[in-house]
Amino acid sequence: MVANIIDGKAIATSIRQDVKKRVDQLLNKGIQPTLVVIVVGNNPASAIYVRNKIKACHEVGVRSIKVSLSDDTTEQSVLKLIEELNTDTNINGILVQLPLPKHIDEHRILEKISPEKDVDGFHLLNAGRLLSGLSGFRPCTPSGVIRMLELSGLSFEGKHAVVVGRSNIVGKPMALMFLERNCTVSIVHSKTKELASITRQADILVSAVGKPRMISANMVKPGSIVVDVGINRDTDGKLCGDVDFDTVSEVAGWITPVPGGVGPMTIAILLDNTVKSAESTL
Ligand code: NDP
Repeated sequence: MVANIIDGKAIATSIRQDVKKRVDQLLNKGIQPTLVVIVVGNNPASAIYVRNKIKACHEVGVRSIKVSLSDDTTEQSVLKLIEELNTDTNINGILVQLPLPKHIDEHRILEKISPEKDVDGFHLLNAGRLLSGLSGFRPCTPSGVIRMLELSGLSFEGKHAVVVGRSNIVGKPMALMFLERNCTVSIVHSKTKELASITRQADILVSAVGKPRMISANMVKPGSIVVDVGINRDTDGKLCGDVDFDTVSEVAGWITPVPGGVGPMTIAILLDNTVKSAESTL
C-alpha cells in the first residue's frame, strides 16, 4: 500500500485565502485585525517560527507587531506589557512565543493574557472551555490537525485515535478534540509500556513527541491515518518529523509529510483565530 499524502500546505493555503477575504471585509468596516507577538530572548528556533508567523500575517493583511525583549527582561515587565495590550482595543491577538527564559514563569505569563485575545488557546480558561466542550480559542496545532483531516474528507466517529505525547499545547488538547468527535481515544507517552502494541491499534495515529523518525512501519496499522506533528532535525541536520515517512507511507492509508504537513496548518489556524477575535468586536 502506498499512502495518500495529506498536503497540509495546500489545505492551509485555502484556509488563508478564506481568512484574507474576511480580513478585507473587516478592513471595509474600518477594523484592522492585529496580532502582537512577544519574543523574549534569542532562541534560534523561536526566531524562525516567529518570522513565519509574521510573514503569514502580512500575506493575509493581518497587522503584526513583533515585540522583541532581551533575555534579562523581568517577568514583571512582561506582565505589565501584556496588561497594556489586554486593554488596547486595537489589538486582537496576543501571542507569547515559547519557550521563555527560565527566570520567567510561563504559566503566570499565559494566564495574564486576556482569554478573548488568547489566539494560541493556552489560557486556562480556554483549556477549561475545551475540556467542557464549550467554544473558545483552542490550541492551533491540534485544531489544525482536525481541520486538515476534515478537509481531506476523513471521518472520526467510532475510530480509535492514538495520540503519542501529552503536552498541554499538543497532545492533551488533541486527545480532547478527538473525544469531542466521538473517537475512542488513547494517549501514550514516555512511560507507556508496550507502546507499539497500542499504536498498532490506531485508526488515527498522531505523533507529537519530538524524536526523529521514532514511529516506524511496524508501529502502524495498515490503512490507517498517520499525522506527524514532530519537527526535528536528523543527524544530518535535515528537517524531519517523528514518523519514518518512507517506510510508514508503505503501510498507512493516509499520511502527513514534514515539512508541508501540520506546520502550515498551525499558522493558518493562528490567522483564523486572530481574525475571529477581530470579528467578535463587530
Ligand atoms: P513536549 O516535549 O512538550 O512533549 C513531548 C511528549 O512526548 C511528552 O508527553 C513525552 O512524554 C512524549 N515522549 C517523549 N519521548 C517519548 C517516547 N519515547 N515515547 C512516547 N512518548 C514520548 O513537546 P510538544 O508537545 O511541545 O511538541 C512535540 C513535537 O511537536 C516537537 O517536535 C515540536 O517541535 C513539534 N511541534 C510542532 C508544531 C507544528 O506546528 N507542527 C507545533 C508544536 C510542536 P512525557 O510526558 O512522559 O515526558
